[in-house]
Amino acid sequence: MFRRILIANRGEIALRIIRACQELGVETVCVYSEADADAPYLRLADRAICIGPGPSKDSYLNISRIIAAGEIADVDAIHPGYGFLAERADFAAICRDCKMEFIGPSPEAMAKLGDKVEAKKFAKAAKVPVFPGSAGAVEDEQEAVEIAAEIGYPVIIKAAAGGGGRGMRICHNEATLLNNIKNAKQEALAAFGNGDIFIEKFLERARHVEIQVIGDKHGHAVHLWERDCSMQRRHQKVIEEAPAPRVDRKKIQPIAENAAKLIKLAEYAGAATVEFLMDDDQNFYMLEVNTRVQVEHPVTEMITGVDILKLSIQVAAGEVLPFKQKDIKVTGHAIECRINAEDPNRNFMPCPGTIETLMLPGGPGVRIDSHVATGYRVPPNYDSMIGKLITHAEDRPSCITRMKRALGELVIEPIHTTIPLHKRLMENADFGAGGVDIHYLERLLK
Ligand code: ADP
Repeated sequence: MFRRILIANRGEIALRIIRACQELGVETVCVYSEADADAPYLRLADRAICIGPGPSKDSYLNISRIIAAGEIADVDAIHPGYGFLAERADFAAICRDCKMEFIGPSPEAMAKLGDKVEAKKFAKAAKVPVFPGSAGAVEDEQEAVEIAAEIGYPVIIKAAAGGGGRGMRICHNEATLLNNIKNAKQEALAAFGNGDIFIEKFLERARHVEIQVIGDKHGHAVHLWERDCSMQRRHQKVIEEAPAPRVDRKKIQPIAENAAKLIKLAEYAGAATVEFLMDDDQNFYMLEVNTRVQVEHPVTEMITGVDILKLSIQVAAGEVLPFKQKDIKVTGHAIECRINAEDPNRNFMPCPGTIETLMLPGGPGVRIDSHVATGYRVPPNYDSMIGKLITHAEDRPSCITRMKRALGELVIEPIHTTIPLHKRLMENADFGAGGVDIHYLERLLK
């Protein structure tokens, strides 16, 4: 096991990594920006090192400062968390060159699965279903038109190196497709440094279902079943749950098994998520592979009892996965509400500021993953998520009841948060019935 790990992140995930390390008996070094100097979790780390001013490019995205901190503190590994540098293969390679283990996949495996065109090739080899569309990058307009005619409109143009919902264009006919191809290529090159684009069928109505997988360095990989993350706003997940409601277990099982096969074929060690859209007939189409731990990992932890964060550290240290697929048992249902410092009544405007009153829920089946405390000032510089409230119960209806109860106990004042939105959604009959589509929330909020 590692002796000392540097945490190249902030907020709730930095705290989550500290917790995992403490249980593993590993020392932690937390880097922080000037904007996070008073973050309470820094006191829980064995050491905290300031790496620069608030703007991410000067701190959490500044590779040389992070590596320098790692050298000063003499760490043997770096955990990137999610966001920031977590999916940068160049960063993973630099860590390796500097003799600090990157806790995540090798740069080679990350590059293979982080590129959407490459990932599709592995998906096909592992019999993971993908969208009908171009086999690889589309070279010219003629080719694009032929593919679109074959799969039928609407189609979507995407960037091979795309992310964050950027660079996608939906085309309903040949004219818009022809209009968009050149621009999409140029935009992809400018935004991602890679001008490769591809075309796939655009699904009008779908749910977002994703499979959690994890592999070790000895060629083993398992899946930890699925999560449903269809409740979204502007491609940002708002509520996640596991298992996915009203999904035929016989349909999801081969998808989950083949997702594990996919990362095995890519010689991938670490935690990953294979994301899918699912249509009304419960056909699955792979969107992409996220090569890191995800925000919504706790719902999977609650239903499987597997500590994904600890396991990600153990496999990076070279340990063999401590269980086989048949050992993974699912118990009950879990739901996660993302609590953001945003005002749902003012178009989700970010609301940084100081928390004067904080009351956290507790009791059976309630989990809070949050770095905030009374007197904590939510800085304006970063993502507005200030925590996650997770409930676990024997079935979905009891899990919703428990979430209502927990939301009723939760007080974060005087800043605005998304708590009122979650209370409303827990009372919503469509959510209660299970299986809303990815555009549901935006229609509701109109
Ligand atoms: P990114 O990496 O930029 O997040 P994704 O490929 O994960 O891109 O897609 C982001 C979102 O765009 C999806 O969650 C979905 O809402 C929408 N989307 C992507 N591809 C399709 C498609 N083929 N059909 C319908 N919606 C899609």
